[in-house]
Amino acid sequence: MAIQYEEFDIVEVAKMCGVQFHAYDHNEIEYKALCPFCGDTSYHLGLNRKMDRFHCFRCKTRGNSVSLYAKMFGLTNKQAYEIIRNNDKVLDEKVFTYRENPETPIRPIEDRHNVYYDFLSLLRLNRSHRENLERRGLSFNHIHQFMYRSIPTDNVFRREVLEKLASKHNLLGIPGFYIDERGDVQMYVKKCGGIFIPICNREGYIQGLQMRLDVDEGSGDKKFRWFSSKHYKDGTGAKPWIHIVGDTTASEVCLTEGAMKADVTSVLSNGQLFMAVPGVNAIAYLPEVIRDLGITKVYEAFDMDKRTKPQVKQALIGLRNSLDAIGVEWCSCSWNPQYKGLDDYFLAKTMCMQSDLVAA
Ligand SMILES: [Zn+2]
Repeated sequence: MAIQYEEFDIVEVAKMCGVQFHAYDHNEIEYKALCPFCGDTSYHLGLNRKMDRFHCFRCKTRGNSVSLYAKMFGLTNKQAYEIIRNNDKVLDEKVFTYRENPETPIRPIEDRHNVYYDFLSLLRLNRSHRENLERRGLSFNHIHQFMYRSIPTDNVFRREVLEKLASKHNLLGIPGFYIDERGDVQMYVKKCGGIFIPICNREGYIQGLQMRLDVDEGSGDKKFRWFSSKHYKDGTGAKPWIHIVGDTTASEVCLTEGAMKADVTSVLSNGQLFMAVPGVNAIAYLPEVIRDLGITKVYEAFDMDKRTKPQVKQALIGLRNSLDAIGVEWCSCSWNPQYKGLDDYFLAKTMCMQSDLVAA
């Protein structure tokens, strides 16, 4: 499979600039390198060949292949463009062959649940993560019940967990796990760490895991990612699963974006039925799940920034149309926009009621 990139291969351009790449931490599209602009010594520079983008997570410098070259040699973008264009190597390889690793077909939900359940059972929850969850309004019991765990960042501990898990389960076809060049089982890992969030179906089976990463606020890095091994050898990608929590006999459901938000709000509303889509545009499975549960009315409760973000507005129209098509009633919820998410609003309300009780 050949992937056409914008104009120049940013990896080739970076090589022309003398950028030093990490020896093995890359796939066909994403590379890591030492940032030449900030004295970086730990490979903070990320390059994406498909998107023709670079971004340093340390000094925040970003751009494309042309601006990378221009910045390195103090040229204008136009000058840099001319030089790169005259470099045969960069042009010759305009279309690079993307060796798409054949994805291992995904295993049925029972298998995934068994693996993820045992995997999470082997993991721990850091104190800072537990405190974060408690601040959202979850009790120790809820945190235990939802099986939130910290992503293991310690190499030795992670290896131990993987070996225990692999001795009991075949991990092929389970998103997030893959086999490396030496034949060892590996898992997708983010060094920044974060919390694993189980994404459950109506029976409470774990369909997949989402990761809420400990990224720096304002860094522009993605906070939520699937635990997926799509781009690795023998890996498997996640699907846009819908998370379900609360009273599944109810005929009305409250719909949020993000499973943790749904868990928290369901708990704070005494077990009401909540569903979470992984993103406002990731609604492929939603109509099917709603029909399956016999839902007649959906209360949409996405974050209040839906009023200001045009992409979200557009996504909401699409969502509404797809529910109209299956004859499900729809109602948009609003609350004091001082609280971004419905969970923030509920938490504030709950705290307020508790302080009233204490005052009385
Ligand atoms: Zn930098």
